[in-house]
Amino acid sequence: MTEPIPTTISKEYRWEMGHRLSYHTDGCQNLHGHSYRICVTLTGTLNQGGMVFDFGDITRIIKPIIDDLDHSTMLHENDQPLVDFLISQGMKLSLVPFHPTTEELAAWFLGKIVDPLKPYSNISELQVTIFETATSTVTLTHKLS
Ligand SMILES: [Zn+2]
Repeated sequence: MTEPIPTTISKEYRWEMGHRLSYHTDGCQNLHGHSYRICVTLTGTLNQGGMVFDFGDITRIIKPIIDDLDHSTMLHENDQPLVDFLISQGMKLSLVPFHPTTEELAAWFLGKIVDPLKPYSNISELQVTIFETATSTVTLTHKLS
């Protein structure tokens, strides 16, 4: 009997979001936005249905997260007085306990995706790539099972 061949699948999602880095001095301190993309990549062996994981199930995990972020402004929760002002104006905010860099965002996404994948013992690796711009990406790789 031959060993099952590891197979890699990927699915991509996009959203629009504002952010700023309050400590930055070279441009990113200004409120601005990006057309973000996330590529979720899973490596594993095929289940009884011939899939590593159902693409629709990836969407069921990712879409609620993307819906919360889309057309929001992600700010460090301590970024005052900007946070207070945007709340007073009824703006859609995503407040986080970290500076909203793409590196931190990738780790935040990874943390939300790992748990729902744990029951699937055929999946050995999760990779998350965030595209902040057309030419700037961050990739995190996490071993499962
Ligand atoms: Zn930016």
